[in-house]
Amino acid sequence: MTDSEHNTQAEAQAAATTSTQGAETLGFQSEVTELLNLMIHSLYSNREIFLRELVSNASDAIDKLRFLTLSDDSLFEGDPELRVEVSADTEARTLTVRDNGVGMNRSEVVENLGTIARSGTRSFFENLTGDSQKDARLIGQFGVGFYSAFIVADEVVVRTRKAGEPAANGVEWRSAGKGEFTVTPIERTARGTEIVLHLKEDAVEFANDWQLRSIIKRYSDHIDVPVMMPAPRTEAEQNAEAEEGAERPAGDADAPTFERVNDGQALWLKSKNELSDEDYQGFYKQFTHDFDDPMSWVHSQVEGKLEYSSLFFIPKNAPFDLWDRDARRGVKLYVQRVFIMEDEEQILPRYLRFVRGLVDTNDLPLNVSREILQRNRVIDSISTASVKKVLGMIEGLAKDEAQYRPFWSAFGRVLKEGLVEDASNRERLTALMRMHSTSEAAGEDAHETVSFEAYRSRMPESQKSIYYLLGDDLKAVRNSPLLEVFKQRGFEVLLLTDPVDEWWVNHVTEIDGVPLKSISQGELDFEIDTESGAQTKLDEGFSGRVAEALGARVSEVRASARLTDSPACLVTAEGGMTRQLEQMLRAAGQEVPEQKPVLEINPNHPIVRQLEGEQNAERFADTACLLFDQAVIADGGRVEDPGEFVRRLNDVLLKVALVS
Ligand code: ADP
Ligand code: MG
Repeated sequence: MTDSEHNTQAEAQAAATTSTQGAETLGFQSEVTELLNLMIHSLYSNREIFLRELVSNASDAIDKLRFLTLSDDSLFEGDPELRVEVSADTEARTLTVRDNGVGMNRSEVVENLGTIARSGTRSFFENLTGDSQKDARLIGQFGVGFYSAFIVADEVVVRTRKAGEPAANGVEWRSAGKGEFTVTPIERTARGTEIVLHLKEDAVEFANDWQLRSIIKRYSDHIDVPVMMPAPRTEAEQNAEAEEGAERPAGDADAPTFERVNDGQALWLKSKNELSDEDYQGFYKQFTHDFDDPMSWVHSQVEGKLEYSSLFFIPKNAPFDLWDRDARRGVKLYVQRVFIMEDEEQILPRYLRFVRGLVDTNDLPLNVSREILQRNRVIDSISTASVKKVLGMIEGLAKDEAQYRPFWSAFGRVLKEGLVEDASNRERLTALMRMHSTSEAAGEDAHETVSFEAYRSRMPESQKSIYYLLGDDLKAVRNSPLLEVFKQRGFEVLLLTDPVDEWWVNHVTEIDGVPLKSISQGELDFEIDTESGAQTKLDEGFSGRVAEALGARVSEVRASARLTDSPACLVTAEGGMTRQLEQMLRAAGQEVPEQKPVLEINPNHPIVRQLEGEQNAERFADTACLLFDQAVIADGGRVEDPGEFVRRLNDVLLKVALVS
């Protein structure tokens, strides 16, 4: 940064500081406004979740404070009893959620309650359909968060002060959820955050004591922070109050006593036989904010050398940011029931990023840091065991194909990354693979039902390799000329059309000693039965003429043993890079040396025979180019010069028309 840039920034900051003297009105980031509109419409029948979101934020703020106090206990400021308080005023139609957690300073308020900073926000909005049921589910996966307060409130006031900062640094945030909000500096002695909702007329039910208790029980029962509500008043007290009427002074002496509403027992520490499916499902929804039940879960309590509990869930639906390899993970690490941090591959590797859940151990110090976790024996053993648990859970699903199919279609593409990243579990992972294939057994539909095991059980004696064909489009791949000889021989070919397939096939070279071979690369590894009289070679002079006509576009022209019906196809030289991999690397911004394909020609095809006898140099060149271009198209590629291709094709069509 240059000096003058530095100055301008400092000035801008100074200007911002001066303006915090009074109230300042700011606009929401446009995504926030969009999310607000959407939420209010699509979550109407699920309105009560706003309370879960606010209580969960309060509990997060308390977790953060608790974590910071591990190294600096002055942050307790003499108020160590961490808690969330929920209280309502039916007459004023307000609902207040208060916590003595970490709080926020002004810039945090503006950042956290004015924008959506989360990665994948854009793709989330692109995925919206306008169908409120589908969108509600997406919103659930995205996490509605703080803004859900506006589903039930027409005005929201937040008062907060950050732990460790003076009372004068309090901040008030106020908004009607209509595109803008106001922030004002205030004096605030209490640490933490208070959120006051001015309930909409049709949302008064959320000021009802009994209603609030039942929502808290439903959604926040397992949160270990106490969630408190004012003790209900006895009838005698209520009568006394009614007599006193409006004259009753609102003094501190009458401040209600708060009592705990949530159970607060960590579910994962309870014994498995005490827990029902409903318990796990309820916990999952509250832990992940998902609207759906999980697909599966595995709960274990380990005792002995190491002591820890783990609870892992597989969601029913893929989260919107599943393809983002850097998206936040869904596993949390607890030490002695205290939330420490979100897992970043210390526990589960990237290829299991769809798993939600937690690990809670007594074998790590409470003040453990990410750096310590990086090379820690305890966490390493927990991680190894956790991966095995999760793979075991997936293997359980795979026992029943009908049950496994939804899992595979939601998460299969991510699981495949493990074939490359986790060599130690490669065998278990290959057993979990499902692929498209040319087998009748696989069917023509979009389901991927072929496992390596099923493939191998169908291999004839004479077949020595497992064959696959890579491509971008299933339909194009199914019709590839490269498959012709395999069909004729009755050899099944796996059809791999995910971008990630290109990646793992470079790492998995055999399955149980049987080599895995691409059919578009190198020479065939079996002898073909040739009909008597059939040609297997090309005249050298002829292949030389074709190569000359195509010039720099091919590395070699040779006779093909793969083709029965088509005149030509493209293959990659042995050890060369396939077109798909080349494209993928280029898209990722890598420099890739130009690869030239091999053109294989079917010596028995009538077009080829005729071309061999063609004396007119121009017609010879045109036909050779057409052969090459059709091989490119069949390979799913794009012809280099579509205009020329069309001209040549039309010449041929015209001749046909003239003949008939
Ligand atoms: P998320 O909880 O997924 O981050 P939210 O919309 O629920 O998203 O909250 C946005 C952010 O606002 C939180 O990450 C947190 O930084 C801040 N925040 C919300 N509520 C509180 C609170 N009670 N105390 C402190 N910070 C809060
Ligand atoms: Mg939240």
